Amino acid sequence: MPSEPVLTISLDFELLWGVRDKRDRDSYGTNILGAREAIPRMLDLFEKYGVHATWATVGFLFCESKEELIAVSPELKPAYQNKSLSNYSYFDEVGENEKKDPYYFGSSLISEIASRPGQEVGSHSYSHYYCLECGQSVDQFEADLGSAVAVAQKRGIKLKSFVYPRNQSSPSHNDVLRKAGFTNFRGNQRSWVYRATDGTGQSLPRRALRLADNYFNLTGHHGQNTVEIDGLTELAASSYLRSYSVEFSFLERLRLQRIMRSMTLAADNNQIFHLWWHPHDFGNNLDENLTILEQLLQHFSRLQQTHGMISKNMAELA
Ligand SMILES: [Zn+2]
Repeated sequence: MPSEPVLTISLDFELLWGVRDKRDRDSYGTNILGAREAIPRMLDLFEKYGVHATWATVGFLFCESKEELIAVSPELKPAYQNKSLSNYSYFDEVGENEKKDPYYFGSSLISEIASRPGQEVGSHSYSHYYCLECGQSVDQFEADLGSAVAVAQKRGIKLKSFVYPRNQSSPSHNDVLRKAGFTNFRGNQRSWVYRATDGTGQSLPRRALRLADNYFNLTGHHGQNTVEIDGLTELAASSYLRSYSVEFSFLERLRLQRIMRSMTLAADNNQIFHLWWHPHDFGNNLDENLTILEQLLQHFSRLQQTHGMISKNMAELA
């Protein structure tokens, strides 16, 4: 248990790679370009409120060119039964570099993040790898992760924190993280509706409950304590900051209050409040999303004064 309450924020930074099996440039490109705009503005807010965050970054985004993307890729690729899940199968549509293809490359943004105070560049695997999907093996995960570590190292970044794509994790995948030198990973919220499953396990009732849980307290408050097993610390999530919803805008107040109440409760109990989202969640309705984020950070400032709450990124917390 930490000696003081902590706010930790993690972002899954992936651009189009995070959703490529479901969406493409035409259907989701605006959000991806919007994410690029959102990142510097989130960084400004983090700086203004002294917030430290971890940016769990897809390894592909570090690459300066398509040539490097291919060169760093492991020989052993994920053998998902559902071929559309493998991001290695989309290289044909990738442009030459970040300037020509801002949907698939992000090295300038990574440099921007790394240059800001308290911001940690972590990992979200090399290819946005799915650990619980049929056909993949632990060896394939190890190969993918090896490329993520290598490409970050080329930029002088040692990866310590990991976020599993689609939150698909298992103890044997954790062993691979340990071996690769990671100190911590983000776990799932402690409720059956948030339990790790493959894509087919994400049934409609579970997704509906998770949606409703953003507005109404259905699963509890999820203030967390760290859990360390053999040198690898699990930092479970407390809440997902979903994007501003135009159709549910009348519920936005409830959503904000639900998160603030959980933050206060975590502060009361000397716990960690771990909030996460994707930059592309802010890619539409950017101003509305930033306003909500700023209101949450103002609440953090209040808790800093009343409860001594501090902000740490994942590596600092582990
Ligand atoms: Zn992801």
